[in-house]
Amino acid sequence: MTINSFNPTPRILMGPGPSDVHPRILQAMARPTIGHLDPQFIIMMDEIKQLLQETFITQNQLTIPVSAPGSSGMETCFVNLVEPGDKIIVCQNGVFGGRMKENVERCGGTAIMVEDEWGQAVDPQKLEDALKANPDAKAVAFVQAETSTGALSDAETLCRIAHEYDCLTIVDAVTSLGGSPLKVDEWGIDAVYSGTQKCLSCTPGLSPVSFSERAQESIKNVKQRVQSWFLDMNLVMGYWGAGTKRAYHHTAPVNALYALHESLVMLQEEGLENSWKRHSDYHQALKAGFEAMGISFVVPAGSRLPQLNAVNIPEGIDDATVRSALLNRYNLEIGAGLGALAGKVWRIGLMGNSASASNVLLCLGALEAVLSELNAPIQQGVAISAAQKVMIAKGR
Ligand SMILES: *Cc1c(COP(=O)(O)O)cnc(C)c1O
Repeated sequence: MTINSFNPTPRILMGPGPSDVHPRILQAMARPTIGHLDPQFIIMMDEIKQLLQETFITQNQLTIPVSAPGSSGMETCFVNLVEPGDKIIVCQNGVFGGRMKENVERCGGTAIMVEDEWGQAVDPQKLEDALKANPDAKAVAFVQAETSTGALSDAETLCRIAHEYDCLTIVDAVTSLGGSPLKVDEWGIDAVYSGTQKCLSCTPGLSPVSFSERAQESIKNVKQRVQSWFLDMNLVMGYWGAGTKRAYHHTAPVNALYALHESLVMLQEEGLENSWKRHSDYHQALKAGFEAMGISFVVPAGSRLPQLNAVNIPEGIDDATVRSALLNRYNLEIGAGLGALAGKVWRIGLMGNSASASNVLLCLGALEAVLSELNAPIQQGVAISAAQKVMIAKGR
């Protein structure tokens, strides 16, 4: 049988990522592929580094996109900073903190776990207690924006405490970058990684990372070779580093980098703080709609991520039935719960280009239609107007 070209039906992406990709970014990807050592390409790589520094709000020279998805940024931070025998404090309040633990252990380190309930922010007091009990810890790792639950932790406070105990800080900012405040230098983050397919609204497959001077010192002085050849920053720096001769390391994903460049240009055009505010405004509108309908949030007010709204599935409603109705009838994708929250919650993303007025109204309207048909215990006919009121008040 002949296999034809693949032409997916377009969807509206309101899950935990990927988010809606703007046509400008897709068009950028379709530009001619050139050599990755072409002088034109090298100029663009330098622009990406500069744009990433602005987005992370850092002067760190070592700020680059790793040529693989967010998980590779996570792995890059751990393999370069954790050596056998190192003690790392890992705060876990959801799925991704668990992956940090995995990474520490695979590097031969010991993970000291600071655990909080899923849906709660990381408790700074628990971190401080762990640091007191483990004065020999080398680093503290935590997820700023836990996409599995929608909880936002106070990265500034957690980093301040970690530094008081002379620890490096490793921060997962996959879902926060571009969507909510993240200030790498001001907060003293030593190693941070993100992803392109969440609030940057780019295609999946790249992971921006940034390392402080302190982290770079640690990387240069590793006692044994970094266990991963591909992710060894000592080698990657020879490719992406300032003033280097761009020795071949691997073939950069040329067109994917065009896309990242375009998405960062778009973010610069909008303004980083305007982007944070847009995410927050549409979160407020979506929240008003859900609350009017009688659907509650998983995360307590005050630590909710605007870009990832985890809501409780109404009594007696089957998760998969609703999600497939949304996909089949409205081409709307929302996220399922992960791990302990599977079947109990929906995760509704307002990430990047998906944080828009039309998406908020579509999501509330479509969900209300599907839930009403299933006789779910919700208030009908009130969600849209509740969201509209917020949007009008915010001038959206
Ligand atoms: C999505 C995500 C990751 C992993 O990114 P991939 O691009 O899927 O590899 C890591 N951490 C958090 C918090 C995420 O949301």
